[in-house]
Amino acid sequence: MRFFLGTHRPNWLSLTSVPLFVSDRTLRGYKTLPTAKGTWALDSGGFTELSTHGSWDHGPTPRQYAARVRRYAEEIGGLVWAAPQDWMCEPFVTNKTGLSRLEHQKRTVHNGLEFRSIAPDLPIILVVQGLFEDEYLACLDMYRSAGVDLAAEPVVGVGSVCRRQGTREAASIIAAICRAVPGIRLHGFGIKTSGLRDYGSLLHSADSMAWSYAARRAPRLPGCTGHANCANCARFAFGWRERVLASLAGHATRPAGPTGRGASRKLDTSRRLALSAFRHEAARLERDSTIRCANRDGLSVRAIATVIDLSPARVGQILTEPDTPVLEQLRQLRARWGVDDDPASRAAADMIIANITTGELTTNSVGELDGAAPAGGVQS
Ligand SMILES: [Zn+2]
Repeated sequence: MRFFLGTHRPNWLSLTSVPLFVSDRTLRGYKTLPTAKGTWALDSGGFTELSTHGSWDHGPTPRQYAARVRRYAEEIGGLVWAAPQDWMCEPFVTNKTGLSRLEHQKRTVHNGLEFRSIAPDLPIILVVQGLFEDEYLACLDMYRSAGVDLAAEPVVGVGSVCRRQGTREAASIIAAICRAVPGIRLHGFGIKTSGLRDYGSLLHSADSMAWSYAARRAPRLPGCTGHANCANCARFAFGWRERVLASLAGHATRPAGPTGRGASRKLDTSRRLALSAFRHEAARLERDSTIRCANRDGLSVRAIATVIDLSPARVGQILTEPDTPVLEQLRQLRARWGVDDDPASRAAADMIIANITTGELTTNSVGELDGAAPAGGVQS
């Protein structure tokens, strides 16, 4: 699977050959564009556009967008493909547009096909949208009825599935699409770490900005200066990418030095138990904080409950609990379990936090990156 690292910083294009995923929203302001060192894909910024304005009316027209894609392809180089101006089907987005999911699907198909007629030379891909499995299958039929053979496309985007839905549900939708169109090469937009693990093998490619959301809520990496957190930090991003790819490959880079596995072997049983309790409580803290963020983002209690596999009642209960800043709660947790009492357990606790925050937002992914290199161990 080809993995595109999402970034808000278009200048990374000229710095790295790592495949990047960059939004038109961040690129459009640049008078002088960077020259790409490697390959990249362009996001149309639809999620932000629709969740902010409820339509594409404020965004570029299809002709304007096509003109930009052409300019990026010519001046930046290395552009593998560009997303169309599709219409996501998450409840958060349809609530904003006031349109039905069927209408979103029809507009997505229409937009994709419009680029075929106005800019047939550009690699603007087609995207399948929906919320539930039968809706994605119906969207495949819309393309079929329009005479498009999706199996013959170099890549087809699958929207809305990875970002908001439970991993199991997303996996079954992706599998159903692959069964319905044998040979289809799917790109998963905005995928979670747990999703990469569970259905990455069914995808031709994927992109993720999960590292940036995680970094925003985590302490900055040891040694980082000049920024308050690592949400736009190349060092954090490339380290995260290496850990994700290593965990996907089924083997992790064995860390050297005082942190990581070597250190945890030196811990006695009581330290291990304390760390295990610390890990459990830190993961719960991370989950509760994510629930509050999602709720502030306008996601309903029911939608949150679906995404993180909790009962709506429990989600509601968590939302009524006092909202102490995460860093303060983490400090209290560290003190309660005495994890900072010696260097080895302090290093292990740092790694637990790094793994929780760079993993995805649910408790079931905690520990999935166990054994990977510590967050500070990979240099950009
Ligand atoms: Zn940093």
